[in-house]
Amino acid sequence: MERVISASLGEIVLKGLNRKYFEDRLIKNMKRVLRDFGEYRIYKEQGKIYIEGLADHQHDAIRRLKKVFGLVYISPCIRTSLDMEDIREAGLMLVKEKLPKDKIVTFKVETSRSDKRYPLKSPEISRDVGGYVLTNTENLKVDVHNPDFMLYVDVKEYGYVYIDRTRAYGGLPIGTNGKGLLLLSGGIDSPVAGFMMAKRGVEVDAIHFHSYPFTSQRAEEKVMDLAKIVSMYTGPINIYSINLLNIQKEINKNCPEDEMTIISRRFMMRIAEEISKRKGYQILVTGENLGQVASQTIYSVDVINRSVEMPVLRPLIGMDKVDIIDISKEIETYETSIKPFEDCCSVFLPKHPVTRPKLEDILQSEQALNIEELILEAINGMKITKID
Ligand code: ATP
Ligand code: MG
Repeated sequence: MERVISASLGEIVLKGLNRKYFEDRLIKNMKRVLRDFGEYRIYKEQGKIYIEGLADHQHDAIRRLKKVFGLVYISPCIRTSLDMEDIREAGLMLVKEKLPKDKIVTFKVETSRSDKRYPLKSPEISRDVGGYVLTNTENLKVDVHNPDFMLYVDVKEYGYVYIDRTRAYGGLPIGTNGKGLLLLSGGIDSPVAGFMMAKRGVEVDAIHFHSYPFTSQRAEEKVMDLAKIVSMYTGPINIYSINLLNIQKEINKNCPEDEMTIISRRFMMRIAEEISKRKGYQILVTGENLGQVASQTIYSVDVINRSVEMPVLRPLIGMDKVDIIDISKEIETYETSIKPFEDCCSVFLPKHPVTRPKLEDILQSEQALNIEELILEAINGMKITKID
């Protein structure tokens, strides 16, 4: 008998001919989070992925695997021979580890038998294991309708017995759906937006705009901290840091005050698009959310959008703030996001930003600026940081 970890796949099982491609990518991503655990072996057996050799790191390994998109459930298992004696013993061992001393609890055994040649049918295996566990424990009862816990038995080439199942996020393996460039601010929304696109298989890098020295070094570090947390899910992230201050000064000097935010947003998008062309990103991703602030009315989103030709995905667009906050707490970016460092948008912040900008007006105002040159200048000064 040996302790192994099992991981079950979500949507990947629906893939037809492509399935191997998705599985191979998934296994590569799993290996990345397990890379500092030394020797272990990953193998596939009938729809699940198993890892042997991590008995001493089970808890830690499962915590990390939870962040690998494409996985749905992860369980610490005991792998046994196909001898009923072995399967029973494994069941008893797991139940004993679980059983409280001073309280009666209920359980149910559920068996899945993929090898139909196995001499016992699933219900017979369940009954056999359940009976054995019951006679060898105290304070335990069977409840087939509403048990306190389940004991699972999978009969394949080996037997696998387990109780606990950690729910992972599902989704698709990163790298199976192209490359996106995330506009990452220091706020609550954009890290969540990056998480959500990555969950659909998009490889994510990030671009951040600051107004140093108007914004501080600490504000920069906060963004790097956020990127580090996001990279636990997305894999390595390149961060392009761009100083927007000169552009903001030019807008401030030459354009109407109430258009400051909208025009600087259009510059952010154009710069992100130019970097995408150079580095090969197919989509931009933002944390925009309809109606949240003046720059996020449907009119503003439209005018901002028309600064670029490439597709911009906004996974949070229709969500409520409370739900976005729930996700940011779940993925552990929230505490960092709410740290009070100034954002580049707080520089030259207009008192009454336009909420219904018209594209013609904005284009008119932008004529006072040398757009191409400002963009190239900003990109020439960019700093690239790699988070691995
Ligand atoms: P967030 O919480 O992500 O900052 P927000 O609710 O504060 O979003 P805005 O400040 O209007 O909304 O920003 C909308 C989106 O524009 C952000 O989600 C982000 O994608 C992008 N963005 C804003 N500021 C920056 C910045 N300094 N660097 C990079 N992207 C930015
Ligand atoms: Mg913001």
